[in-house]
This record gives sequence, C-alpha cells and structure tokens, in this order.
Amino acid sequence: MANNEELFKQIISHAKEYGYIFPSSEIYDGLSAVYDYGQYGVELKNNIKQYWWKSMVQFHENIVGIDSAIFMHPTIWKASGHVDAFNDPLIDNKDSKKRYRADVLIEDHIQKIEDKIIKEVEKAKKRFENFDEAMFRQTNQRVVEYQQKMDEITGKYAQLMGDNDLKGIKSLIEELGIACPVSGTKNWTDVRQFNLMFSTQMGSVAEGADTIYLRPETAQGIFVNFLNVQKTGRMKIPFGIAQIGKAFRNEIVARQFIFRMREFEQMEMQFFVRPGEELKWFEYWKSERIKWHQALGIAPENYRFHDHEKLAHYANAATDIEFKFPFGFKELEGIHSRTNYDLSRHEEFSGKKIRYFDTETNESFVPYVVETSIGVDRMFLAVFSNAYCEETLEDGSTRTVLRLPAILAPIKVAILPLVKKDGMPEKAREILNKLQPHFLCQYDEKDAIGRRYRRQDAIGTPFCITVDNQTLADNTVTIRERDSMQQHRIPADESITFLLNNLVL
Ligand code: ATP
Repeated sequence: MANNEELFKQIISHAKEYGYIFPSSEIYDGLSAVYDYGQYGVELKNNIKQYWWKSMVQFHENIVGIDSAIFMHPTIWKASGHVDAFNDPLIDNKDSKKRYRADVLIEDHIQKIEDKIIKEVEKAKKRFENFDEAMFRQTNQRVVEYQQKMDEITGKYAQLMGDNDLKGIKSLIEELGIACPVSGTKNWTDVRQFNLMFSTQMGSVAEGADTIYLRPETAQGIFVNFLNVQKTGRMKIPFGIAQIGKAFRNEIVARQFIFRMREFEQMEMQFFVRPGEELKWFEYWKSERIKWHQALGIAPENYRFHDHEKLAHYANAATDIEFKFPFGFKELEGIHSRTNYDLSRHEEFSGKKIRYFDTETNESFVPYVVETSIGVDRMFLAVFSNAYCEETLEDGSTRTVLRLPAILAPIKVAILPLVKKDGMPEKAREILNKLQPHFLCQYDEKDAIGRRYRRQDAIGTPFCITVDNQTLADNTVTIRERDSMQQHRIPADESITFLLNNLVL
C-alpha cells in the first residue's frame, strides 16, 4: 500500500494522464500554483458547481444567484479590510532563500503532532485489544502528553495571530524548532506582513490610471449588490445571495496541487438575517452544509468541523468543514457569521444607506450575514482524491478506478459495440443518439472490450452499455456497473430510464 505522499503523487499524475488537470503553460515549464482543467476536469468541475447551485438556488425559495464582475471599485477593498487588515505573515529562510507563510509553517507543525496522536491512538487500541495493560498505559500516556502539547501550541498560536504579534510568531517558530523543508536549517528572517491581492491598472496608460485589484473573494460582489437584489427581487429577510466565480490570491506557499492556487474559484452564499438571529442561522447552515457533503456518499469520517477559537475581527462565530485530504485534514469550506461588518463598512465608505426595512417590526436595520464559502477546486480535489483507487481483482490483475459519485462523473455512460462489425457499431450509435440529449456519453469501438472498460474505469464513468450479438437479435444490451463490475441485461429502450434512476443521489 502506497504511503500518503506516494498516493498523492499517483493522484496528481492520474489527473494529468487522464485529461483532468494539466499544469498551466506546461510547454513553458509551467506557472507556479496555476492549473488548467482538461476535457474531463472541466466536466467534473461544472458538475460540482451545478450540484452546489441546485442545492443552494434551485432548492431554496429564498436564495437567488448573481454573477458580479471580477474588477470592482478599489474602495471596496479598503472597506472590506483587504487593503489594510488582511495581510499574511511571511518569513524567509536565509539559506534556501525560500519564502513561507509563517502561519502555515506552524499549522503544519501542529498537524504533525496530530498525526502522531492518531498513530498512538491506533497503537493504544491494539494494545487494549491484546490485553497488554502495561503497554496500553504507556501509549495512552503519550497520547495525553502529545494532546497537551498540541493544545498549548494551538492556544499560543491563536493568541499571537489574533494580536498580530509578528515577533511572537517568529519566537514560536524558533521555540518549536521548525526547520526549512528545503535547506533543513532554522536560519529565519523576521516575520513581515504581505498583502495577497494582485493589482493592475485600469485605463489605457499607467500614468493617472487607477490601481484596481483582482478580487480575492467573491463575497464583496454580493455585499455591494445587496440593495439591488433585495429591491428588484422583492426579497424578504431572511434571504440569501449565491455566487460562483474566480478569485485570486498571491499565495506565498503555493503547493499541494490544486489545494492552494493563485487563481481559483469560489462558491459563496451570503445569507442576510435579522440582528440577533445570526447564531441560529449559523447553526442551520453548519448542518445544511455538512448534509450537502455527505449526500455524495463519501464516508462521514472524512469530514470534521473545526470551530475557530480566535475569530476574525468581523466574525462572531466561525467554523471550517475540514476534509481528510491525502496530506491530512484541511479546510474545505468555511462557514462564518460575519455580523453586519461588511454592509456597515460599505455604508461608511460609499456614503449610501444599506438598510433593510422590516415590515413585520417596522424597523430599519443593517442586516447580519452568515456566509458559506467553499472552493470549487478544493472540492474537486476532495472528490477526486477520495475516488482514486487501485485495486487487485480476483484474477490477480489490477485496475485503477475513479469511484466518483455518479452525479458528478464527467461521462455518465459509455456505449461500446462488442466488435467493430456485424452492424454492432451502427446499433451502438443508434443508442448513443437516443442518450445524447440526456447525458454526456462516449462512444468507443477501439481495442478489446476489457481494455475499453478499464479506460472508462480510469476516468470514472459509472456505466457502460455494451451492444453484442444478442442486441441485434432481441434489442437488449448489457449494462456494466463501474464499482461492482457487474453486468446485467436490459431492453435497450429502457436505457434512459435505467440511467435516470441510477444517476441521482
Ligand atoms: P486557507 O486558510 O486554507 O488559506 P482561507 O481560510 O483563507 O483558506 P477563505 O478565505 O475562508 O479561506 O476562503 C473560502 C474557501 O475558498 C476556502 O475554504 C477554500 O475552499 C477556498 N480557497 C481559499 N483560498 C484558496 C486557494 N488559494 N486555492 C484554492 N482554494 C482556496
């Protein structure tokens, strides 16, 4: 069994080999932390977006969508705090000349302790089952010690980050003995602040042109359109505005494949509520969002909540939904109770009133906001890495299969004539024509049938329809199911109904 690092490498190379994800500008040696989605990648990505959009917009009467521009008035980023307040703490290693995000270095260190705890707990379990009391006690003691250490570091770290204490953050890195992964030395510079927004100029000449930013989050496009949507849609609180779109962050620690990119996509929903009701809605969205994830059939133990102890200046509650990626549990989605901070700041900076008049209470107020924010690319990585599987079959052969949830799979069904003669291709194409209006299909007649099944397994196609001699005689086809590899025969005319029934959650 491959270790996690090895497994992650296999997943990345599978994504490339099968047309899911390519490094950007590859023929020019790539561009760091930027990726392109290939022919299957774009389908999976679109399906993820559609799955989110349907659940948010189509299934909620009180949520509508928008698509705001990436370029926005530069004052928006002053109001939101991105120009002055949101800076990442950076540190350089003097020997390797590599630059890191200081917070990520510490978080990785904490993660390592957590991994040790998980290992020790496993050991303790085995020792308990073997009635090895002495060893069990010893291991258990180690778990307690690691846990205390982790709590102590986490507490200190949260405090330093909250206080924006750059000197303290550096001291903590030294105290923990964190070494540069490249040079292996602990020869660090001081920690400095770095703004992660990309800027550019608007206007034809640089002189006199305004500096504008590529948005680092989609949320602000929703806030500044709050009144437009509320008035034109006659929306009544509580209601939500959803948006899917690109965001850009000049991430310093760009690694872990599509987990942390410089250009990525977000699916965000801002839910506007009465002041004082935000924590109730925060709990509601926590539970709704975890249900959304789990409806995909991915094992629940791959998800956990991580409640924030130290909150951002605009929040009064926050949690992350973390997913067990091949490199450990990491944030997949954030749910934040953002108070009325953003709308109030936009009132202040724009000089325009952003109020909601509540006809039930006859009061006018700046609404409170609960946000759900998930990265499309991180969701892609979660689904893809979880689906990737290499298995040994009963006959000793191996296959690589992507066990993608059927609703997200790029190709829903492959139509395969058993052989390329006797009228089978024609019959297969006839079936293809009937299925195409409903599903993204693939027709394949090249190579032996076994190899064609393997190709479909590797791209995650949930069903294959095979046309054989019997099809020509009685108009039945075989349907092969990807995960179980079982085949059964159904009338060709029932293919659409079969697929419709089996491609839902
Ligand atoms: P992190 O701590 O990992 O940098 P964050 O807390 O800054 O993430 P948010 O600002 O809450 O992230 O953004 C919401 C979501 O957007 C995240 O949960 C994640 O799924 C996604 N996201 C954020 N930054 C990136 C990135 N650089 N690449 C891909 N997805 C991202």
